[in-house]
Amino acid sequence: QAKALGRNNYSFYNQKLHQEAIVKHKLELELNCAIDNNLLCLHYQPIVALDSGKIKSYEALLRWPDSDNGFRNTEEFIEVAEESSLILKIGDWVFKQACLQLEIWSEQGINDRHIAINTSANQFNSDDFTELILKYVRKSPFLAQKLTFELTERKPLAISSKTVKRLLVLSELGFKFSVDDFGIGHSSISYLRAFPMDSIKIDKSIIQNILTSNEDLALCTAIIALGKALSLDVIAEGVETEEIANLLNSLACPYAQGYLYAKPMPL
Ligand code: C2E
Ligand code: MG
Ligand code: MG
Ligand code: MG
Repeated sequence: QAKALGRNNYSFYNQKLHQEAIVKHKLELELNCAIDNNLLCLHYQPIVALDSGKIKSYEALLRWPDSDNGFRNTEEFIEVAEESSLILKIGDWVFKQACLQLEIWSEQGINDRHIAINTSANQFNSDDFTELILKYVRKSPFLAQKLTFELTERKPLAISSKTVKRLLVLSELGFKFSVDDFGIGHSSISYLRAFPMDSIKIDKSIIQNILTSNEDLALCTAIIALGKALSLDVIAEGVETEEIANLLNSLACPYAQGYLYAKPMPL
């Protein structure tokens, strides 16, 4: 009987894995279809100077509308896309979309806007992506001055000489680079040593605790000092209250982003 039960458990487990694989596969197909049918869109959230309130940049955040007027969970579908080549297709689309928007603004005579886009490490390591970027810059050189690539520390870029070279070439053209989710990854300092970064974004899980946790306050203070010492712009993510903004301002944190200023929103 125990044997039978064991077998049943095994098949149950197998079935569950199988079920999960099917759900994932279905999501991949739907996402692929959504990209091809141009159903995805970008929302934008301002990054502001803490002292003056002046807007530094707009972070583009991917949105996938669902059937009842809401949106699918971005973090969830990006995670699935990261496991397939879909993330490359998404990354190309986001880059092109941001360039298109910058070109529209430029035609309207609006030249002071900057966009930050999230880029996965896989994307960054693909030769096709660099080709795409260079193709766009050859056509419209001004784009390079107006785009920041946010690279997350959670799924870090492999530190290879090829990647470093690629980053240097793109920085020389004028593109900016930011370490996203700084402080919760495994490579914070080595990242800054290896790559020519321009800014760091302190992860919102740290920022949201600075009023209640001495450790997170100390970490935040140290990261701001680190940024200053290395001439990097520091951006606090996930600022939701006036109290947190005031504290960050008193710590001389230069930039912030969060619901206090604006939620991500359509153009
Ligand atoms: P992220 O790059 O760290 O983006 C910040 C996230 O925090 C966004 O979540 C934003 O909506 C949210 N947020 C902003 N202000 C606040 C606040 O005050 N409080 C709280 N609780 N949250 C705030 P979102 O849009 O759901 O995106 C989640 C993650 O998905 C992003 O984190 C980024 O890692 C990834 N992602 C989004 N768009 C793209 C994309 O186009 N490409 C890639 N590869 N990843 C993307
Ligand atoms: Mg980001
Ligand atoms: Mg982040
Ligand atoms: Mg994040």
